[in-house]
Amino acid sequence: MPVALRKRVLVTGGAGFLGSHLCERLLTDGCEVLCVDNFFTGRRENIAHLMSAPYFEMLRHDVTFPLYVEVDEIYNLACPASPIHYQFDPVQTTKTSVHGAINMLGLAKRVKAKILQASTSEVYGDPQLHPQPESYRGSVNPVGPRACYDEGKRCAETLFFDYYRQHNLNIRVARIFNTYGPRMLPNDGRVVSNFIVQALKGENITVYGDGSQTRSFCYVSDLVDGLVRLMNAPDEVTGPVNIGNPREMTILELAQRVIDLTGSSSEVVLRPLPQDDPLQRQPDITLAKSALGWKPTIELETGLESTVAYFRDLLAVELAEAHPMAEVAE
Ligand code: NAD
Ligand code: UDP
Ligand code: UDP
Repeated sequence: MPVALRKRVLVTGGAGFLGSHLCERLLTDGCEVLCVDNFFTGRRENIAHLMSAPYFEMLRHDVTFPLYVEVDEIYNLACPASPIHYQFDPVQTTKTSVHGAINMLGLAKRVKAKILQASTSEVYGDPQLHPQPESYRGSVNPVGPRACYDEGKRCAETLFFDYYRQHNLNIRVARIFNTYGPRMLPNDGRVVSNFIVQALKGENITVYGDGSQTRSFCYVSDLVDGLVRLMNAPDEVTGPVNIGNPREMTILELAQRVIDLTGSSSEVVLRPLPQDDPLQRQPDITLAKSALGWKPTIELETGLESTVAYFRDLLAVELAEAHPMAEVAE
């Protein structure tokens, strides 16, 4: 592809779970990719296979500080996403969402780049309306332990729309619902990774509360496709657009599916429900279907199988590193 036609795309949070899959997809699409990450929850291993690609570049940088680069498009994904990680340093989480958004919007304004924000279903909080359409304004506890994430993301959306109205920026806002797949961290506390790792290790499966709360899980390749379609949609499609899989299930059902799929002898144990844990969540994806021609294509069973395979390999490597002589000893 001639150099002039190759889009230069910045992915913040590009060494994370979603970001690394997005970088991969953009390289496949023929883009030049600049991955920016401070490695708070991102891992070098997620992008190691991309480092030798001629149009991939990695920059270690914290988005709460200004960044001066020349790009055509920006996907702003930098932000820890799992409750234990975003609550570890809540002030930094808010800074990452808010100062990070200001810096990336300032960058987009200077270089006239299109910019997409990875927002979240958490802007709906513990929703009183079900399923959640984009018009729903949400029910967030502004002083609870999840607020650093929820309110940070809500403020980032506000900033995107103010830069759009005030500076005519070309913006996109995606509200991402629970997404799973290979490269989730085994220890980041999210439900899919927790359950799979527990099942593979034969440990108890920790269901919080009575397990009747619901979530709707989207496989990572579907999600990435939704983000790329949103970025490439006509300029008037600013969003916010829900991107997620509407297949809803209780957490207890998920636990059972993981046990069945792994053939594990693990048993379910109940643990206290964290404060402000949303009781139900399901995206209304009418807008994504009509505006982006997008809907998820990967069935939960298929997605879980490849995620289980990923964690099986990861745990085998960890075991081999912890007991290098195990094979010899046998
Ligand atoms: P992740 O934690 O794997 O990725 C986040 C990445 O951002 C990491 O690589 C981390 O090191 C990096 N990062 C954090 N703070 C940074 C900073 N100040 N400067 C530079 N880099 C920084 O999480 P993920 O699941 O890949 O989520 C990616 C984005 O999608 C996040 O913005 C998240 O809020 C959003 N999102 C994800 C989900 C989901 O289910 N995975 C749901 C809703 C929204
Ligand atoms: N910024 C950046 N890279 C750029 C341009 C701006 O990181 O290429 C940051 C800079 O920190 C600035 C912020 O984005 O403060 C907002 O930029 P804007 O132009 O909107 O406002 P300013 O604060 O410069 O008046
Ligand atoms: N959850 C659980 N056991 C775990 C981890 C999470 O029962 O080991 C529950 C959690 O309380 C929540 C749901 O699973 O109701 C999804 O949690 P996750 O942290 O993955 O995402 P979020 O709450 O941000 O949607």
